[in-house]
Amino acid sequence: MDYPIIKLKDKSLKSIRRKHPWVFSGGIYSDMSGLSEGEKVCIADSKNNILGTGHFGQRSIAVRLLSFNQSAIDADFYQKKLQNALETRRFIDLPSEETNAFRLVHGEGDQLPGLVIDVYANCAVVQTHSSGMSQDFSLIEKGLKSLDGIDFDHVIHISAEKNRGQSVLPVEGTEFLENGHTFFANWAKGQKTGFFIDQRENRALLGSLAHGKKVLNAFSYTGGFSIYALKAGAESVHSLDSSEMALKLGEEHLQMNSIAGEKHQSIQADALRFFSEAKVDLYDIIVLDPPAFAKHRSARHKAVQAYKRLNAMTMKKAKAGSLLFTFSCSQVVTPDLFEHTIAAAAMETGRDVRVLKHLHQPPDHPVSIYHPEGEYLKGLLLRID
Ligand code: SAH
Repeated sequence: MDYPIIKLKDKSLKSIRRKHPWVFSGGIYSDMSGLSEGEKVCIADSKNNILGTGHFGQRSIAVRLLSFNQSAIDADFYQKKLQNALETRRFIDLPSEETNAFRLVHGEGDQLPGLVIDVYANCAVVQTHSSGMSQDFSLIEKGLKSLDGIDFDHVIHISAEKNRGQSVLPVEGTEFLENGHTFFANWAKGQKTGFFIDQRENRALLGSLAHGKKVLNAFSYTGGFSIYALKAGAESVHSLDSSEMALKLGEEHLQMNSIAGEKHQSIQADALRFFSEAKVDLYDIIVLDPPAFAKHRSARHKAVQAYKRLNAMTMKKAKAGSLLFTFSCSQVVTPDLFEHTIAAAAMETGRDVRVLKHLHQPPDHPVSIYHPEGEYLKGLLLRID
């Protein structure tokens, strides 16, 4: 192993010693002009002590660290990391008879920045978020194929960077089980790796409350929350999304779970418009799970305003005594900031609002204690009076 060495300025050593896995370009002393995007590099202090190994990138995060040592990043390296990731999931009973879709790798939470791997039944869907990870796909694939205790029929590569990954996918999706419900993850046409498995536990919570209730699932995508509510005996469920394709896939989920359609209605609409025009006080439970309003720090202020507006509009019209599940999946909006935003929205409406529960991503989306930014999905279960 003979990776180029990047020397750090003293000011960035503190964060590395705290095991934060990102090195920002401003903290680098060396000239980086000879390095290529995605190349493996070692980082060192001014005395040439090696402090870690990672992927180089030309953006503000210049190095994403895969190890805090001098390490060879090869198939064996990935195999060991992946085996550890699998053991962590098995400890929390994933996969199980009822649930055979789970996140095997959650980026920094599994010491693999830039890498997400979701498993759906016998398929592993590898999503790479950096050039370095994209270039390492064949090593990762090798690691996945040599895992102890799990066999994959297909290893799919999709990339968050445009036009990378396998250009022709061997299969466009697969059926899988989540808490005994059947879904189809369509990674060719859908978002993320084909399904939002991060809402598994929150969907189960909705299911436990929905019997006999009228439910609005806003930003429903392919109807994950709706299926749980219908299966639990909800009186009616409305799934609202702006995407026709997502709603169509949602209708297919009804059939796959043998649910007759009469209690369900798909509404194709812009959510903000819907909440400003429609009668929302029909519903006993509303779910608001919008897409990430802010992908970067610079967009945070605008995103906070958007969350506030959406939630205020919903709360203003909500039925007295109803429940609201409200979420944010923007990484740059911290749980505290989100709760303050919802408080500001509540204040604007003058309604009595109580927090019944704080909601999170499930444990197969672990957060490194040294990288709290990994906690991206946060939500509140509120009662509106
Ligand atoms: N709750 C879903 C995931 C939501 S993803 C689940 O459990 O699977 C966010 C969804 O919001 C996407 O399906 C997207 O089509 C939809 N969306 C984005 N902007 C919207 C808007 N303005 N109005 C309604 N839906 C919107």
